[in-house]
Amino acid sequence: MKNFNYHRPSDAGAASSLVAKSEEPRLLAGGMSLLPSMKLRLVAPTDIVDLGDIAALKGIKVEGKEVFIGAMTCHADVAANADVKRVLPALAELADGIGDPAVRYRGTIGGSIANADPAACYPSAVVALDATVETTKRKIPADQFFVGLFTTALEPGEVVTGVRFKAPDKAKYMKLRHPASGFAVVGVMIAKYGSTVRVAVTGAGPSVFRVPAMEKALSANFSAKALDGITLPHADLMTDIHFSAEYRANAVVVMAKRGVAAIA
Ligand SMILES: Cc1cc2nc3c(=O)[nH]c(=O)nc-3n(C[C@H](O)[C@H](O)[C@H](O)COP(=O)(O)OP(=O)(O)OC[C@H]3O[C@@H](n4cnc5c(N)ncnc54)[C@H](O)[C@@H]3O)c2cc1C
Repeated sequence: MKNFNYHRPSDAGAASSLVAKSEEPRLLAGGMSLLPSMKLRLVAPTDIVDLGDIAALKGIKVEGKEVFIGAMTCHADVAANADVKRVLPALAELADGIGDPAVRYRGTIGGSIANADPAACYPSAVVALDATVETTKRKIPADQFFVGLFTTALEPGEVVTGVRFKAPDKAKYMKLRHPASGFAVVGVMIAKYGSTVRVAVTGAGPSVFRVPAMEKALSANFSAKALDGITLPHADLMTDIHFSAEYRANAVVVMAKRGVAAIA
């Protein structure tokens, strides 16, 4: 690992300024993705801006159906929060299924979505639940936040401050879990708001994506049967040493049917 300057600001504005002034900066949240990338020399920051002392970025607020999760809130806190379990249980379940306890106590929602790993679980919740990502500069609608493989709409120096969700009538996250890492081979989040259904898929493609054919079928008839006959084109899906694109395409449909069956 190369030497770097270490900063620990006490507010998000100062963190943004430090990033703006540095040559090759990186924000540090839980370090669960950043530190391995540094150890593998995939990134070599000149400056690390640690968000760990910024109290305003931590915590969960639930008011009515609105759930706000501060960027530096770790997955274990989301999983254990009584209000999240009551209002948006699918999100608590998703957080509880991330990685292992060490990852859940260090990894944060802000770090997860900023990293935009194609196999991360939170992006599917952010998109299916039509959340808003709040940053030091603006509010970004979920459909505009994830741009591609490890790429988001965040600009240099822009710090995610939190994510605002509106609880649906029903939601379910189904994950085909990678047996070694716990990451999603395929993860499907289904959310029903009145007669509108949103379906977002992670793990299968280079970035999270919605499935309009499933959303249309489920909006007309919210049952697993409504997904009979729907297939997912696999040309743009990922093939790796573990699973083929065809396998992932089929797994998306299977996971979606199981998810709907669980809550319909
Ligand atoms: C063994 C293992 C298993 C895992 N399994 C899963 C899984 O099953 N599901 C899943 O979803 N994830 C999984 N993860 C990922 C993990 O949950 C973390 O969410 C993820 O590593 C990033 O979060 P972090 O807080 O550690 O961010 P960091 O590693 O600190 O940062 C990641 C990136 O985000 C940037 N960043 C961090 N915070 C902000 C912010 N507030 N604003 C702007 N940019 C920011 C950093 O600069 C960096 O580029 C796993 C990780 C490991 C190591």
